Amino acid sequence: MDSSIHLDNIVMQFGDFTAVQQLDLNIESGEFFSFLGPSGCGKTTILNMISGFLQPTHGNVYIGGQNMQGVPANKRPTSMIFQNLALFPLMSVAENIEFGLEVRGIKKAARKKTSDRLLELVDLADSGNKKISELSGGQKQRIAIARALAVEPQVLLLDEPLSALDLKLRQHMRNELKELQRKTGITFIYITHDQGEALTMSDRVAVMSAGKLQQVADPITLYRQPKTIFAAGFVGENNAIRGRVTDVNAENITLDCGELGLLQGNNPGNLSRGEEATLFIRPEHISLDHEQHTNQLSARIEEINFEGSYLTLVATAKNFVKLTVQISSDQYLASMVPHSEIRLSFNPSEAIVIAGGED
Ligand code: ATP
Repeated sequence: MDSSIHLDNIVMQFGDFTAVQQLDLNIESGEFFSFLGPSGCGKTTILNMISGFLQPTHGNVYIGGQNMQGVPANKRPTSMIFQNLALFPLMSVAENIEFGLEVRGIKKAARKKTSDRLLELVDLADSGNKKISELSGGQKQRIAIARALAVEPQVLLLDEPLSALDLKLRQHMRNELKELQRKTGITFIYITHDQGEALTMSDRVAVMSAGKLQQVADPITLYRQPKTIFAAGFVGENNAIRGRVTDVNAENITLDCGELGLLQGNNPGNLSRGEEATLFIRPEHISLDHEQHTNQLSARIEEINFEGSYLTLVATAKNFVKLTVQISSDQYLASMVPHSEIRLSFNPSEAIVIAGGED
């Protein structure tokens, strides 16, 4: 079944305010697709336009090739799971799951068959008669999913459904959601401001900022090749160093980074001499071996955070550029204390250079 989605240049305006700007995007049938961005960037508004709770000011939403203009929410092949789950506390678990089917006039026996099957799918086979209050946070989460799946949606819309759970359960539920998506083959559209969630579960991620699409890519590409300053700073920890282009060759680009001197990064192909740019280097790509790479820096340690198998050092270079360096715990030396100097280097091929300065 075609459960692809095409957002055809959709715009959402609330009065003078544009919450979503000219969004043109295809989501494939059976894809786990996430919208990732900070609070207020327009994620829920997009979900509401797909589900039919909001009509776009301009543009059209297509689901399975059908234009959804004028199709009310309850007639769309979508189901939504809200942040607060919105389970009915006075109904049993099975009644919650069967609710959407009852509204559609499906007979009791058929409803029970569906709820039994879904309870099994979410690993709660014996919980149908329980009250909602008897369930743990993670179990409630699974019932909300089962209820959303009962009406056999082609597209499941998930609005930050894990945000109320504690960290451990959240991590566990990430795997469960991904597994469930594989088992059902339904298109999942997930919104979150948590990059860890988006990167671990999604086939592709759309990074949003202020109503605008920044980049759409698979998680590895997004991490390794961010295309905008916003995406480079928002997806994963990243060190940003501003500079001006002084030299460009086939592979590398050289930036004059003021007091930090000349630093080289990967040539992005769209910059010429004199232009402002920002160089990004991941904490795990900075080495404590000063001689190892062409780009060399000295910095003063501000903080040392032991994270188990690795350490993060927060340091400042020339008193103004904050750098985070991640090293394996084996590399820890007793001399690494706050206020001590470290000498660092990084490889130009691992540094991404993006046009413009940081906001
Ligand atoms: P969060 O992660 O906090 O839920 P979000 O990315 O989902 O944020 P939206 O809820 O889509 O953001 O809101 C985007 C912007 O549109 C916000 O600035 C919000 O204040 C505004 N907005 C949303 N709904 C309305 C409305 N009905 N009327 C006016 N402004 C609105």
